[in-house]
Amino acid sequence: MTKNEEFKSIYDYTLDELKGMLKPSFRAKQVYNWLYKKYVSSYDEMKNVPKELKEDLEANYPIDVMEIIKREKSLDGSIKYLFKLRDGVTVEAVLLLMKEKKIGEDGVVERGEKYTVCISSQVGCKVGCSFCLTAKGGFVRNLTVGEYIAQIVNIKRDNNIPENKALNIVYMGMGEPLDNFNNFTKAVEIFSELDGLAISRRRQTVSTSGIASKIKKLGEKDLGIQLAISLHAVDDDLRSELIPMNKAYNIASIIEAVKAFPVDTRKKVMFEYLVIKGKNDSIEAARKLLSLLNGIQAKVNLIYFNPYPGTTYQRPEVKDMLKFKDYLNERGLICTIRESKGLDISAACGQLKEKEANGSTWDSTFDIYRNSSGSVSSRFLCK
Ligand code: SF4
Repeated sequence: MTKNEEFKSIYDYTLDELKGMLKPSFRAKQVYNWLYKKYVSSYDEMKNVPKELKEDLEANYPIDVMEIIKREKSLDGSIKYLFKLRDGVTVEAVLLLMKEKKIGEDGVVERGEKYTVCISSQVGCKVGCSFCLTAKGGFVRNLTVGEYIAQIVNIKRDNNIPENKALNIVYMGMGEPLDNFNNFTKAVEIFSELDGLAISRRRQTVSTSGIASKIKKLGEKDLGIQLAISLHAVDDDLRSELIPMNKAYNIASIIEAVKAFPVDTRKKVMFEYLVIKGKNDSIEAARKLLSLLNGIQAKVNLIYFNPYPGTTYQRPEVKDMLKFKDYLNERGLICTIRESKGLDISAACGQLKEKEANGSTWDSTFDIYRNSSGSVSSRFLCK
């Protein structure tokens, strides 16, 4: 039995599939409404669904696919979740809150909140990036389609996020989404169902460590989602050191695959670039990056490398980051320095899971994690 069959759930299905499964088919829309507009956590709550059907669904397609076992709330409002799945393994997701400025109907500036949720794709990961905690645990298994969907439903429920409030999804948590291709692409489809969560595909961004063959395959499916590439280096030696999979898919093959990827004329492919002092922070590296990305609707996001115990790499100087950024911007390539959210929580991929495994403590309110060493991380998300 595959994990998909073993851990099937009601969240695995598109509306059309459910219509084919439930008789009469209008029940499918009712069930969808309870799941994705009301975020119910049990079939009991589905008031207009007959008892026998609920019992049948409960027995065959469970709703409770994961439980929240930890949450860390940052002072900036971001919340990191640790979920326990049915086989006892854990994955993380992060809700990032950003301030939003909108002009209301009466012309008055309103302040609101913008939600972005970073979700996981796998338990563990095969890619083995040298700077990543998730990589250290090796690969355990792919998430099912339902486990992708349940991360968002749980977070929306936990925060009472109104069903009509726009939300962005980044597939940037634990694991490599393109290595879980079929489940990930089906999740994109279910997330965007108008009768379901209705999260537009333009609001969904997949971040990949650069499996060139799968970027091509994804481009051919033309799902309308955004693409982000963890590039991190302009030469193959350094990139292979950081992301060993670069030996199989080198920089040239990734760039070729990205050039074939359909990008909306108003959108850009994001290139994440982890800046390491003395390794890839020179103007020469910026020049190479500019030339590599020539002909791509690209934007570059610089990330400060944050040293962790055992690494020989160092954090870059602020002045070098700014020089790098200015060099690209002055030549027409949009470049930003990543604003780190969740600085006071373990928001980088794998940190909360590791902390839980090491038995770190939580304060009595349960919401704010007290880091015993007092240190904070400026990395967030995995890639
Ligand atoms: S950074 Fe992402 S792709 Fe790389 S090992 Fe970690 S989880 Fe996998």
